[in-house]
Amino acid sequence: MEQNITSVEHYTPILIVGTGISGLTVAYYLSKNNIKYTITTKKNAPKQSNSFLAAANTRVPSENDINNIINLTIDKCGADRSVIETLYRNSNTIINFFEELGISYEKTSFGIMPECMIKSQGGKKLINGLLQHIEQPLCNKILIHLEKYAHGIIALFYDIQLDQFIRIYTNYLVLATGGYAAQFSYNDNSPGSTGETLILAKKIGARLKGMSTVMCHPWSIYNGRQILLGGVVSLSQGKIVDEEGIQLLKDKYICDAIAQDDYHEMIDEILHFQLECIKQKKDMYLDMSHANENLLNERFKKYGFSTNVVKNKRIKITPTMHYSSGGIEINANGEAINLNRVFATGEAQFNGDLGMGRIPGQAFASGIVFGKLIADKIANEGVFNTQYPFSFKAPPETMQLYSIEDNDFPIEEFQKELSTLMVDLLAPNSSIASLTLHKRKIQKSQNMILGRARGSGKRYEDILTLFFGHSVALEIIEDLEVKACVKG
Ligand SMILES: Cc1cc2nc3c(=O)[nH]c(=O)nc-3n(C[C@H](O)[C@H](O)[C@H](O)COP(=O)(O)OP(=O)(O)OC[C@H]3O[C@@H](n4cnc5c(N)ncnc54)[C@H](O)[C@@H]3O)c2cc1C
Repeated sequence: MEQNITSVEHYTPILIVGTGISGLTVAYYLSKNNIKYTITTKKNAPKQSNSFLAAANTRVPSENDINNIINLTIDKCGADRSVIETLYRNSNTIINFFEELGISYEKTSFGIMPECMIKSQGGKKLINGLLQHIEQPLCNKILIHLEKYAHGIIALFYDIQLDQFIRIYTNYLVLATGGYAAQFSYNDNSPGSTGETLILAKKIGARLKGMSTVMCHPWSIYNGRQILLGGVVSLSQGKIVDEEGIQLLKDKYICDAIAQDDYHEMIDEILHFQLECIKQKKDMYLDMSHANENLLNERFKKYGFSTNVVKNKRIKITPTMHYSSGGIEINANGEAINLNRVFATGEAQFNGDLGMGRIPGQAFASGIVFGKLIADKIANEGVFNTQYPFSFKAPPETMQLYSIEDNDFPIEEFQKELSTLMVDLLAPNSSIASLTLHKRKIQKSQNMILGRARGSGKRYEDILTLFFGHSVALEIIEDLEVKACVKG
């Protein structure tokens, strides 16, 4: 079966999967060194990524602050020392990167961001700039299987548009595939952030860490789909009220911090407060009644939000899943631990397993710094060998889910159930017994999917997302079990 439908074979010395800031930065520095590579994305345009949606506020600590930031990220977020030292001791790369690309920037409270008319569009500007300097990405190709050999890796893709499987052999694989926050029911991510490549990397020997560490953002509108930036939220002066206008947030210290757009160190407390409101079935609103109308209109315009969300001088808010911090453990070169020639960069890396897992602005900083380090390492030490095996060691499990004829397996129903369950998993103080129950349920559903769900094209992609979503949920449980054991 596998021989019949794997219709295209390729060799490429370096394969980058993912066209967000991390993948494009690796491609940019390889192009600069005239090194050949292939870059792919599962989406139908390279711009479909979290990076494109982001403001690209990028952390660049001042020389004097580097040690503080390193220690803070280790103590509060659980980062690996060698990785985080590498990131911040090389953060001068970021300024050079912006300047080389000709992207003007402005200083922010913790770093720099592209200068834009609309502040939330910094990521768009960076991604558009990078796309002009790199090889044309191959689109619509979803990575569905990996096999590791001594001198390289075989990557199996499915082309969603051409309904075709493609085997690519490469000497170096760079996984720049982002995180898995889009598997949760409320999230503001690009829909491609579903985490399947983390599971594939684990299957060939990578170590995953911190998978239960995710960041929920307190200020979202449109049922979680968009987050409000602090400059707009601050206009509420920290007044969070219920439907009757009664003040819900009473801690003056937190209210003041929100009013001054300096609440980032208190997000845990804010989320805790929100969770209590949700438990008590209380809707939450930012009270904008004290904001000067002209200032409000001007801020909304500047940050790229529509004032339509302000109703009766209030904005309805909910927390939303904003990013994931668990991922592939790497060394200071960005190479996966235990897995030579396989690199992980950006949100696919393990960032940290405490608190929010990373600090604001770290994602773009890390994508840029590790993008350069990975490209430099391959450029300096690359050993290329075009001889490779012509069959898989074992038939890929994910191919079982493919069929030219679609069936009526209820994918949406399963997806809805999974995304809600993912949120439940993270409820504080889940007991081992409840985690075990969840685990059994997830395993049972996943077996049903493997046994019954079939399709091709977009439907096959949805089945794959669902299948891997179950694996991500199991990884989250495993991580929670480890944390519960450590706590005793
Ligand atoms: C609204 C929003 C605002 C943000 N603002 C900031 C900010 O100001 N500063 C900051 O530092 N961070 C910010 N973040 C976080 C930051 O945007 C992300 O962490 C970062 O962009 C991740 O970059 P990445 O390149 O690792 O992944 P992404 O940008 O998510 O790109 C992942 C790529 O991998 C591809 N891919 C995934 N799986 C597969 C597969 N199986 N096969 C093929 N291709 C695959 C995707 O299609 C995509 O091209 C924000 C996030 C959001 C959602």
